[in-house]
Amino acid sequence: MPSTASAGAASPARKPLTSVLIKPAGPDCNMACTYCFYLGKSQLFPQTAIHRMDDRILRETIRQVMREGENQVAFGWQGGEPTLMGRQFFERAVQYQMRYGRPGQIVGNGLQTNGALIDKDWARFLREASFLVGLSLDGPQHIHDRYRRLAGNQSSWERVVRARDFLLEAGAEMNALIVVNDYSVQFPAEIYEFHKASGLLHMQFIPCVETDPLDPNRAAPFSADADAYGRFLCELFDLWMADFRHGKPTTHIRWFDSVFYTYVGLEPPDCTLLEECGVYVVVEHNGDVFSCDFFVEPRWYLGNVLEGRIVDFLNSQRQQEFGRVKKSLPAECLTCRWLPHCRGGCPKDRLRDPRDQGRDHFCRAYKKFFQHADRRLRQLADDWLKEQQKAQRQKLKVERNDPCPCGSGRKYKHCCGRV
Ligand code: SF4
Ligand code: SF4
Repeated sequence: MPSTASAGAASPARKPLTSVLIKPAGPDCNMACTYCFYLGKSQLFPQTAIHRMDDRILRETIRQVMREGENQVAFGWQGGEPTLMGRQFFERAVQYQMRYGRPGQIVGNGLQTNGALIDKDWARFLREASFLVGLSLDGPQHIHDRYRRLAGNQSSWERVVRARDFLLEAGAEMNALIVVNDYSVQFPAEIYEFHKASGLLHMQFIPCVETDPLDPNRAAPFSADADAYGRFLCELFDLWMADFRHGKPTTHIRWFDSVFYTYVGLEPPDCTLLEECGVYVVVEHNGDVFSCDFFVEPRWYLGNVLEGRIVDFLNSQRQQEFGRVKKSLPAECLTCRWLPHCRGGCPKDRLRDPRDQGRDHFCRAYKKFFQHADRRLRQLADDWLKEQQKAQRQKLKVERNDPCPCGSGRKYKHCCGRV
């Protein structure tokens, strides 16, 4: 949930460079999950069979972000599988961040990993360098192993659970990444309780929809069905709320947190809930920059870090065009009462199943969820805004019926203190 009520201002004309997503090993991965869309991306980089970011590109990417980025910048390290680069690569990345950073600049690093290579040394490094680790662990063994397989179709669960335990022991900040597919969608409580029991209290659920490789006219069979995902979200929401203590959540579900931002009028951290895309860019292993991780394709190629500036790519015509794609919504969205909270979902989810005819594959799920949760989300938002107001009054040393300190002549509660 948000910690202040200060956001929500109109965005400036030029987008600030605040975050980049880096794919140092391109689409390469040491696992072979059935539902992964990255593996096919190798065709985009046919020059080499193995894709690795070299030191020149790493250094230049970091130099630009640190020198031309805001006072607070975030690096998201993603794949494929970024740990294929080895620990020393990330040690160098941290050194470059220190070398090129300004005094007082705050740097965040997030690493998404399948956990297969995470051992005690990795865990210690990630803790010491304050990385936020997103670990792909879909749930208990029967759920995780359903599709998340090592090469040779071997089970990966034990290895990933071991990685989780190393990371927890080391005290690394962690987030469980859970893909919701046709099978796991049946088990919201089991997945939630599994992570909670292990102490993994931050969870990010990602609904899966991909085009069927055998029939391009429909979604792949492992995709989650919209109605089933709607039931999943509702049950998960009830579990999340049941774990509130003293009006505060004790577990963190990224999508719920983001939705909550929309209820208090703040800009949500989850890009799928924004009005437009294009708030960040992706840097591939060879320095090529693209509009979004899900659109690493020729149409959305913006340039290369060795030939241009990332901040210019972020503000390029092409990136603006990409950003607007999200806003071109089907008629159903334009009249939908949930549009201010849903924003039509992620554009990639409109494209995978032709039967959706341009609508978000999970639209029915979102409608079901908002119908189920809206009243309670409004209540939570109300409570939160009142709390913010109270904190603000204490800071300004003003009561609700006092004249407003802004000088308007009105009572504070009818002016700046209005909830
Ligand atoms: S396409 Fe989806 S993931 Fe990419 S920026 Fe837009 S909402 Fe975010
Ligand atoms: S719930 Fe469906 S119709 Fe409504 S805004 Fe979201 S995607 Fe569009």
